[in-house]
Amino acid sequence: MTKKSLITGGAGFIGSHLSRRLLDAGHEVTVMDNLFTGTKANIYDLLENPRFTFILHDVTQPFWGQFDEIYNLACPASPIHYQRNPVETIKTSFLGMMNVLELALKTKARVFHTSTSEIYGDPDVHPQPESYWGNVNTIGTRSCYDEGKRAAETLCADYYREYNVDVRMIRIFNTYGPNMHPQDGRVISNFIMQALRNKDITLYGDGLQTRSFQYVDDLVNAVLLFMALEPKKVKAFFAKQAMSVPVINVGNPGEYTIKQLAQETLRQLPECKSQLVYEALPKDDPKRRKPDIALAQALLGWTPEVPLREGLSRTIAYFRGVK
Ligand code: NAD
Ligand code: UDP
Repeated sequence: MTKKSLITGGAGFIGSHLSRRLLDAGHEVTVMDNLFTGTKANIYDLLENPRFTFILHDVTQPFWGQFDEIYNLACPASPIHYQRNPVETIKTSFLGMMNVLELALKTKARVFHTSTSEIYGDPDVHPQPESYWGNVNTIGTRSCYDEGKRAAETLCADYYREYNVDVRMIRIFNTYGPNMHPQDGRVISNFIMQALRNKDITLYGDGLQTRSFQYVDDLVNAVLLFMALEPKKVKAFFAKQAMSVPVINVGNPGEYTIKQLAQETLRQLPECKSQLVYEALPKDDPKRRKPDIALAQALLGWTPEVPLREGLSRTIAYFRGVK
C-alpha cells in the first residue's frame, strides 16, 4: 500500500529534500507550511506530481488528516529568522509539536521530530552524546529556539511513554546544502554568498569557535533509515541503552573552526576577492559543537559519507544559480 506522509515545514531547506526522497520511494507526500522561511520555489517541480499536495497552514493551528507518518520540521532554524519573532518561534515548536502528537494519537501515525544540537546549548561536554543534558540559558536571545525544541522533546517523550505514540527524534547537527535560503544568515550560506559577490567574509568573534557540518543527503539517509525501523526493534535498542525514548544525534563529526570554513570556501573560489573581517560574536553563541554519533551508527548502520570539501562544492554550485 502507498504510504501517506505529512511533512510540516516541508517547503524549507531540509523538508524539500525529504519530500523528494519520499516521493522517489513511492509515498504520497503532503507538505504543510506557512512559508515563513520556506518558499514554493523549493518545491515547484513537485507541485505537478499527482502524489504531492501542498497545504498553506500554520502548524500552531490544529489540523486533521489521515497519514501513516508525520515528519515535524516546521520551525525557523537560523538564528536571525528564529529571533525575528521569538514568541512565534517558541509557539511553533511547542504548539506545532502538540498538534502533531495529538493528530498522531488519534490516527496512529508514526512521528518523526527534528530536534537539534541546540538543545545542548553551549556544551561543557565534548563531543556531545545523547546522555548529556546540555547547558542552555532559559532567558537569552537563543532560548526561544533552544527551549522550544527542548519542550518539544519533552512532549515527544511523554506522548511516547504515556500514550504509546510511535515517536522518533533526531538531534540534527548543523546541516547544509542546496535549497538553503541565501539570506538566512547561517554561516555556510553567508560565506558562500559573500564570496560569490566579492563581499567581506564576516567572522563573528575570533572565528575559533567550532561546528561540525553535515551535508543534507547524509541527514535524509538517516531519517529514512530511522523511520523504516519496526517499533519493536526501536524499543529494544533503546531499552538496551537504558533510554526510555528513541532519540539519536545525527551529524558529521568532522569539526572545523569557523575560520577554517571561511578559508576552505575561499580556496574553492580562487577568483574571489573577498577579505576576512571580524565582527561581534552573537550572545550565547556555542564555542564548540561536535556530535557523538555512536548510537546512530549502531542503530541504523549509518555513517555520514559526504566530506565538507565535497558538500561545499555542491552547495557553491547551487548558490551560483541563485546569486
Ligand atoms: P527552514 O527554515 O528552511 O525550514 C523550516 C520550514 O518550516 C520553513 O519552510 C518554514 O516556512 C516552516 N515553518 C516555520 N514556522 C512554521 C509554522 N508556524 N507553520 C508551518 N510552517 C512553518 O529550516 P531547515 O534547516 O530546513 O530546518 C528544518 C527543521 O530542522 C527545523 O525544525 C529545524 O529546527 C531543524 N534543524 C535544522 C538544522 C539545520 O542545520 N538545518 C539543525 C537542527 C535542527
Ligand atoms: N557565523 C559567523 N559568520 C557568519 C554567520 C555565522 O562567524 O556570517 C558563526 C556563528 O557565530 C556561529 C557559527 O558561525 O559561531 C555557526 O552559525 P550558524 O548561524 O550557521 O549556526 P548555529 O550558531 O546555530 O550553529
